[in-house]
Amino acid sequence: MPAGRRWRARHQARRLRPGPRCARGGLMTWRSTHSIHPVTMRQQNLATVLKVILAHGPIPRADITEIAGTSSGTTTKLTAALIEAGIVKELTASGPTAGAGRPRVPLDLDTASRAVLTLHIGVHYSLVAAVDIRAEQILQRKVEHRSADAREVIQRAAGALAELRRQLGGRLVIGVGITSGGTVDHTAGRLMHHADLGWTSVPVRDLVAEQLGLEVVYDNEARGEALAELTFGVGSRADNVIALFVGSVVEAAIVVDRRIHRGAHGVAGTVTHLPVGEARGPRCECGRRNCLRMVASNTGLLTIAREQGIATESTTYEELVERSAGGDDAVAELLALRARWVGEAVGVLTDLLDPDAVTLSGNATHAEGFLDAVRTGMRSADPTRPDEVVQLATFGEQSTAAAAAALLLDRYFADPVAFEPGLDTNHGG
Ligand SMILES: [Zn+2]
Repeated sequence: MPAGRRWRARHQARRLRPGPRCARGGLMTWRSTHSIHPVTMRQQNLATVLKVILAHGPIPRADITEIAGTSSGTTTKLTAALIEAGIVKELTASGPTAGAGRPRVPLDLDTASRAVLTLHIGVHYSLVAAVDIRAEQILQRKVEHRSADAREVIQRAAGALAELRRQLGGRLVIGVGITSGGTVDHTAGRLMHHADLGWTSVPVRDLVAEQLGLEVVYDNEARGEALAELTFGVGSRADNVIALFVGSVVEAAIVVDRRIHRGAHGVAGTVTHLPVGEARGPRCECGRRNCLRMVASNTGLLTIAREQGIATESTTYEELVERSAGGDDAVAELLALRARWVGEAVGVLTDLLDPDAVTLSGNATHAEGFLDAVRTGMRSADPTRPDEVVQLATFGEQSTAAAAAALLLDRYFADPVAFEPGLDTNHGG
């Protein structure tokens, strides 16, 4: 298929149809196994109080009332419902405050009661994990891909998730978050196109949901990273964020005014063909040799390393990182060069979008000196660029699981009753 037609086919497939209209007037933009229901004032207040505890916990009820803007009676009732459900717990009172006779009992999320299962579909293996409702990791396992067949890979990964679920004991599993690289139609839960996996139009979400019988949310890796930062990371001080993932793929997600910017066709953040100055890498499908994905992805890097004679056909990316750490200067220089190329791209993105923060995730970021080299690359074209906005992802090496979990938890905190209908009938009506 000619390149132009392929582009149109991919992008037209991504043109999203509006979902069914929700009873509260807004468009439902995500499929839910729960019925479409009107969101009551109580549900909204529950979500608000829960989000205040997420952002500020441990926090006493009086402070929740002040931040949430609810009455103290409402706060008492809603926190009682959340405590009864085991989502929130009371901590030990910190003693009477000055001028007040009653101790202030701080409340916090009960991170031991619930879990989210996560799946990241990589190019060579998948990562399955379980995290708590602050997206902190409980368990993680790597599942090697034994086949190129999408259904086989996904079914094995879902089997590993079921195994993790059994290991969680009494925790309530509220759902599954899935990420992958490539073009993801998050509304349909479908992987539209992934060049390195060679997969096209795979119903990832439904395959996992059928096997596990849980609520499943699926989106692109970089968007998961962006949501994790908004909810649990730099979002506490940043409204405009670029989340850049550098690993087997290179992808970006753009957050403007705390919302993920998806674009007219859902593919905003595609940085595949962003040209990187003097870089010379493997030839891209577009014909050039300095496209970001080709020079900065692990796959591209291995190709360059082979051309330079410092890697063989069987060398893995992990081996390159180990050799660099072990004092192999040629490999260390190539890894640093790759980080500077990423920095050049980050510079262009910051010029365009002027973000509060740029967060870097993916296994490329685990290489020693990665962040400093990115900042150097960023300043190479313009030394006045604000390189201090660039930082490593908040969850570090656990950011893959946190990113997938954030897709699910973002919805959970927006409307916990949709996931736990029992909350609506708990006392505190
Ligand atoms: Zn290209």
